[in-house]
Amino acid sequence: MTIKEEDIERLRQLLEEPARKIVIVAHVNPDGDAVGSSIAWRDALQGMGHRVTCVVPNKYPYFLDWMSDIGSVVIFKNDEAGIARRAVEEADLIFCLDFNAISRLEGLSELIESNTTARRVLIDHHLAPGPGFDLMFSHPDSSSTSFLVYSIIERMLGVKAITPRMAESMYVGMMTDTGNFSFSFLTPALYRAVAVLAETGIDIPAIHNNVYNAFTEGRARLFGYAINRKMEVMHDGTVAYMSLLESEMRRFQFQQGDSEGFVNYALTIKKMKMSAIFIAHRKFIRVSLRSRGDVDMNLFARKYFNGGGHRNAAGGKSFVSMEETIAHFRRSVEEFAAEGHLG
Ligand code: 5GP
Ligand code: MN
Repeated sequence: MTIKEEDIERLRQLLEEPARKIVIVAHVNPDGDAVGSSIAWRDALQGMGHRVTCVVPNKYPYFLDWMSDIGSVVIFKNDEAGIARRAVEEADLIFCLDFNAISRLEGLSELIESNTTARRVLIDHHLAPGPGFDLMFSHPDSSSTSFLVYSIIERMLGVKAITPRMAESMYVGMMTDTGNFSFSFLTPALYRAVAVLAETGIDIPAIHNNVYNAFTEGRARLFGYAINRKMEVMHDGTVAYMSLLESEMRRFQFQQGDSEGFVNYALTIKKMKMSAIFIAHRKFIRVSLRSRGDVDMNLFARKYFNGGGHRNAAGGKSFVSMEETIAHFRRSVEEFAAEGHLG
């Protein structure tokens, strides 16, 4: 990943004027990378003397609640006091982190689009960014947005500007988006960044423990149920999918975030090339897709589920019943395979 000097220069110019009013927004269903990169970037900008508000469309999962100062991230959906609205309306600059199109903000999109004077800067690692940004740091070869934010801070401010809180936040993003440093784009530069973060004195084992060993009993039982009772395999055992209905989730006292990681599990099976999970929400079914190697989930998500993402992790939505969603998925897999995309 190479960040162009001219982009850094343009960013410097945008931040030249003192005390800019800035909003940082991240994607709907914010994950560790969305929240981690937002908090770190917010602290960096505040360190430069700017006035910054972080906003997310809806609540982050409960296993991130421990993160330092996460309470200051405004959740637009619960924002009765109108803090997000005011901040967005007054903003001179809007940073869009960890997503690639304003529409990915769902309920928050309209508010962001209503401020037509603010400059919009994208800092993201998803493929194919949408239009409407004045400056783009779009690097699909970065393993996380947090690593991208780290790289920008390193170039613009130097690593001395990184506080332990910024380090902790970026570490959470790097760790979660790489599946604990196991997916692609694990470059030497990423490990050098991790070394710099470690030098700030953050407690790395505690971070892993806080994120990965903080679930409820219900979540563990739901996981067992999903694997044992709901996982189906097809295409000669190379494609797996699971589905969860609202009634099933209620039975295990489901909380938002509880199904995180389930979809990855099928890929622990040696033969598996692709895995999907369908999770029922009130108005639609959320589709999550994972794959190994060259099997392109971004393409699959775009083609069949009106979504997108990365090559090995993508998602989308379905607005038909669970049965119809599964039937559509099975047909789509057959077509995808027939076109040679399953290798
Ligand atoms: P997850 O399965 O963890 O929800 O999402 C995996 C990846 O796919 C994330 O990078 C996420 O941004 C992307 N993604 C998930 N759902 C959608 C969607 O509906 N539209 C688009 N464009 N990307 C999505
Ligand atoms: Mn990310």
